Amino acid sequence: MALRTLEDLFVKELKDLYSAEKQILKALPKMAKAASSEKLREGFEEHREQTEGHVERLEKIFESLGKPSRGVKCAAMEGILEEGKELLEEDADESVMDAALIAAAQRVEHYEIAAYGTVRTLARMLGNSEAEELLQQTLDEEKQTDEKLTELAESEVNVAAQGGE
Ligand code: FE
Ligand code: FE
Repeated sequence: MALRTLEDLFVKELKDLYSAEKQILKALPKMAKAASSEKLREGFEEHREQTEGHVERLEKIFESLGKPSRGVKCAAMEGILEEGKELLEEDADESVMDAALIAAAQRVEHYEIAAYGTVRTLARMLGNSEAEELLQQTLDEEKQTDEKLTELAESEVNVAAQGGE
């Protein structure tokens, strides 16, 4: 796929994100299942539903551009999730595992925040305000999720992991 214009780059970045979101969609139920904290499990389940919306927004953008969503595999997300998978196989105490799950999930969110920030800005540069708005909505949700994970880490998980419960 040759990159001649900013629109080519925009489409390539969107495909990368589409692949990333699809991978995340498969990983989140496994992370929910591995969580001991009810709040954390609910958080993962909630974000799985949100992620379906992220996929739909991307599909809407591909449709409006008349481009296929396929063609790029996000190797970075594959690696981040592979590390997460290795973690699930560790012999860990419940609350320590929860803290580790949060650490893995925040790596995912930060990748998405970086990538959505880029495509949102590209959409703006290309004068595609519809795509810009859709991408901004997802970016805001990823940031909220990241903040929620930080709160959960501070409020219950790490306290329990230190034996404070
Ligand atoms: Fe997402
Ligand atoms: Fe996310």
